[in-house]
Parts: sequence; C-alpha cells; structure tokens
Amino acid sequence: MYIDQCFPSRPFRPQNAASIPKGVIRMVDPPLFHANLVGMNHTPAPEPFRRQALEPGRIRCLTFDLDDTLWPVMPVIHHAEARFYAWLREQAPEVCERFGPEALIQERTAFMRAAPAHERHDLTGLRKRWLREIAETCGCCPDHLSGEGFQVFWEARNEVTPYPEAEGVLTTLSQHFRLGAISNGNADVFRTPLGRHFDFAIAAGEAGAAKPDPVIFRQARERAGVAADAILHVGDDGAADVLGALQAGFRAAWFNPKSLPWEHGHPRPCLTLGRLGQLPQRLGVDT
Ligand SMILES: [Mg+2]
Repeated sequence: MYIDQCFPSRPFRPQNAASIPKGVIRMVDPPLFHANLVGMNHTPAPEPFRRQALEPGRIRCLTFDLDDTLWPVMPVIHHAEARFYAWLREQAPEVCERFGPEALIQERTAFMRAAPAHERHDLTGLRKRWLREIAETCGCCPDHLSGEGFQVFWEARNEVTPYPEAEGVLTTLSQHFRLGAISNGNADVFRTPLGRHFDFAIAAGEAGAAKPDPVIFRQARERAGVAADAILHVGDDGAADVLGALQAGFRAAWFNPKSLPWEHGHPRPCLTLGRLGQLPQRLGVDT
C-alpha cells in the first residue's frame, strides 16, 4: 500500500516514489501517517496503529462497563454515603462527633489515594480497611463498622438508576449475545434493576486487577467462552475501557454521550456511541 499524498497542505513523496503507481492517492489521518511510512518498505504497520474493524457478524458477546455507562455513578455514590452516615448516627455516634459527612468523605478519599498501587483495584477491601481504621481512631468496634457498616453502604451503592435507554437496549441485545459486566467499581450488577440481562460479571476486586490491565479482560473472556475478537466491550473510559479492551484483543465501543474529543491517540475505538440506543442498530439487531 503506497501513499503519494497525505495532506493537500503537506504533500509527501517517498524516496522510492518512482515505484508508486500513478493516480494512487490516499488520505490518512495524522497518527496513521507514521504507520503508513513504515509500510513504504513493505513492512507491516505496527499493530497498535491498525484500526480494528467492528465486523458485527463476528461478535458473540458484549461486555459492559457499569458506572457512567449503564447508570450515572455520582448520584448513587452520594446516596450510599448519605445512607451510611445516617447509619453511623445510630450505630457509631462517636464517628459523627469527630467527622461531619463531608469531612468523613475527605478522610476516606485521602486514605484511598494513599493506598499502595497494587491495592487500589480492590475498592471493597480498601473501604473495609478504612472503616476499621476509623473505628479504632474513634474508639468504636472495627468489626461492626467494617461488617454491618460496609453492608449498609454497599446495598445503597447498588440502588442505581439506569440511563433511560439501558433497559430496552439490554433487553434487545440479550436476545442475540451473551452479556457480561466488567467493572472497576464495587457495584454488583445482579443486585441492580439490570441484573436479569447479564450472564456473568467480573469486578476488579475479584479479578485482582483493574481495567485497563489485560488480566481482568482475560478473565472476562474465559467467562464469555468465546474468542477475544468475538467480544465487543462497551465503556465510557477511553483508557480503561477502550484501550484496555483493544489491548486484550477485544473489540471496543466508546460510550461518549458528551461528544468529548478522543485524546488517546491510537488505537482508536471500533465504534463511538453518543447514545446507548445506537448499539443494537450498529450490531444489526435492532428489529
Ligand atoms: Mg465507567
């Protein structure tokens, strides 16, 4: 494959231009420029620069990110923190005497940020450890806070409000594909209103690694029981979801409802969705 002009404002002639058939003109986007230069000497372009085609007929399984892909995450986190603080007022007032609601959230955020990198994928483990530390600081029972207290937070954490199109889209897709969830958060999709559509779910805490680590995608592929390139992962995070999935050999759709620019170079998502409702049609199963 040859190029004899990349951009009208920046004509390019390779050294062996004489060998290029006349009239061969290809327009490429800037990051592909280098890749096609490499290809001048018949050397295959580096794998990261190839755009992977979606090939809808090849897809057998869809995996979904959860937070900010199937529901907005911040409302449910605020809801869960408020429920937990109300429980503290009843069950561990010593903590409330020392920390107001906002101060307690700041305390937890600082604790999690200070955690070693190899522990940050396990949000449940970190929160339980923080609760034990808070209990000891305030002179109340660590087992009570990290047991029942965590459970109060976690149950409220699963009381999500899905995006309006999610229910209908998953209803349609589940008739044609295996559906899985791959999440870095600690929600349990089977405890949410969307759980009935899913065949499997894997969370970072359980996998021992968070997206974009290939480890979590590999485990998801094993649960899916199909080849990696027969799985389309759908998520809102360009790095964790899209790049992670592509690196693991999955196909990747970027859920981008705010029409943000793609800032991760190459590879790029196979598909970009402004709305979840576009997905069945793009996969040819909208009827
Ligand atoms: Mg997300």
